Amino acid sequence: MTALGDILKARITATGPITLADYMAACLQHPQFGYYASRDPFGAAGDFTTAPEISQMFGEVLGLCLAQCWLDQGSPAPFALAELGPGRGTLMADILRATKTVPGFHNGAQVVLVETSPTLRAAQSQRLAEFAPVWANTVEDLPDLPLFLIANEFFDALPIDQFQRSAAGWHQRLVGLVDGTLQFGRSPALPESAIDPRFAEDPPGSVVEANPALATIAATIGQRIAARGGVALVIDYGGWRSKGDTLQAVRRHQPDPPLAHPGEADLTAHVDFEALVLATGLPHSGLTDQGALLNRLGIAHRAERLAANLAGDRLETHRAALHRLTDPREMGSLFKAIAFHAPGTPAPPGFDPPHA
Ligand code: SAH
Repeated sequence: MTALGDILKARITATGPITLADYMAACLQHPQFGYYASRDPFGAAGDFTTAPEISQMFGEVLGLCLAQCWLDQGSPAPFALAELGPGRGTLMADILRATKTVPGFHNGAQVVLVETSPTLRAAQSQRLAEFAPVWANTVEDLPDLPLFLIANEFFDALPIDQFQRSAAGWHQRLVGLVDGTLQFGRSPALPESAIDPRFAEDPPGSVVEANPALATIAATIGQRIAARGGVALVIDYGGWRSKGDTLQAVRRHQPDPPLAHPGEADLTAHVDFEALVLATGLPHSGLTDQGALLNRLGIAHRAERLAANLAGDRLETHRAALHRLTDPREMGSLFKAIAFHAPGTPAPPGFDPPHA
């Protein structure tokens, strides 16, 4: 068992079973032994690979999308160019490179990185030094400016709770100890009011998830954009009112039992995009497949330009990256995107129109 596993066992022994969100929060965010606090998880040597790490094209076309939104809103300056959970800083670096020639964009931009991990802050600082970024611990600390924000694979990394309905009512999933081992269990039946009303009609046997941090963060972003203008582009895996148990642990590119290696495996859950929409309260696009979005933003054209300077293995890798990002059998439809924009402003380009 890991060091964090021992800490969690002592805690459960002292005060009883903990909620899944408490377990995930400790595993992901513990200041010393948390997954993100202590490592750079990306790439072949790490646990998983994200779209910006697959190809620069991802950030380039999304950067141009953000710049178009900024132009469409009258080029407000100064403004916050913000990213939630920027990882190694690759996406923001690609956004900034692609938008270098957009008049006034770099001059007006205050680059703000919402990041809790000291290890990843250090990587971002190296990568983005020339743009003098500032860091924030939470969206509450974003500067009071028009907000042009992007978040890729951020919301899936927030702690969730799970609830299961039995004939007796809804039970919360808990993490406890059985014979000295971490095990899932469940709470006694909860009052109906403990569950999101969207799930009121779900039959016995149903499992649903709640993501309180997602709702708080999305509400803050929504208020900021409504008051000051701007957009938020969110890309992640999940669905519209995603249902069922979507908790997953990944360690060294392999699925791992979620309680097996606390703090040493990435724990994620599908993003409930409907919950984002409800919490922001902003005009929004339809839920759009990543592949469709990237294609509409011109990724194929950009890919051809880059291919012209490549040959051999590097050309092969480049072509494979385009396929991986856009093909429906790869990330193209597993990953979804949604755009939010200030009331009375044009919808961001490339996204599906809102669903009826
Ligand atoms: N967007 C990056 C990284 C995704 S991994 C990419 O696409 O490559 C998730 C990122 O969110 C990491 O940078 C992690 O440290 C950060 N993170 C996770 N939970 C967070 C929280 N509650 N507040 C701020 N950052 C968080």
